[in-house]
Amino acid sequence: MKRVGVLALQGSVQEHMASLKRLSGVTPVPVKKQDTLETVERLIIPGGESTAIGKLLRDYNLINPLAKRIRKGMPVWGTCAGMILMAKRIEGGNEGYLETMDITVRRNAYGGQLDSFDTRKVIPLISEEEIPLIFIRAPYVTEMGKGVVSLLELDGHIVAARQDNMLVTSFHPELTDNLEFHRYFCFDM
Ligand code: GLN
Repeated sequence: MKRVGVLALQGSVQEHMASLKRLSGVTPVPVKKQDTLETVERLIIPGGESTAIGKLLRDYNLINPLAKRIRKGMPVWGTCAGMILMAKRIEGGNEGYLETMDITVRRNAYGGQLDSFDTRKVIPLISEEEIPLIFIRAPYVTEMGKGVVSLLELDGHIVAARQDNMLVTSFHPELTDNLEFHRYFCFDM
């Protein structure tokens, strides 16, 4: 069994746990502390509020141990707020958090009426079928370093990307029935 962690400080933790439970061969593990972090082979950083999760990461002294494991190659997937926490640069002068992935992100990038929306797209690396995509006050990637590969652009904006062991999505596969992203993250990364 693969022990797959979900960072369990704030946000859509239960939804990711529920998606992982539906995959055979995976034991989902909520991660709140460093000793639990050391027992998982990969980790999902959920959506939620990046400032809240970031503050809790700092309060629980998890920034350094987590950033170190990511730099050593642990597969990590940040959804929405998780993308912001992993980015080296956040537009607007906000200080970064884990700063492991060579991307610049824009928070709440879909202002006004497009604030939250859903759509369906084919993401060739993940599946030949269309995948439902839910965006909630989502960020997107505005700049990528050389090692980063875009997996999906929507209206000219990068909303999914990978750099080595790091995957980020602006949207929330855990809020849909579709398991393709969870399967890809657990078994193909
Ligand atoms: N707007 C949130 C932030 O800036 C992210 C929203 C989400 O994770 N659904 O942290």
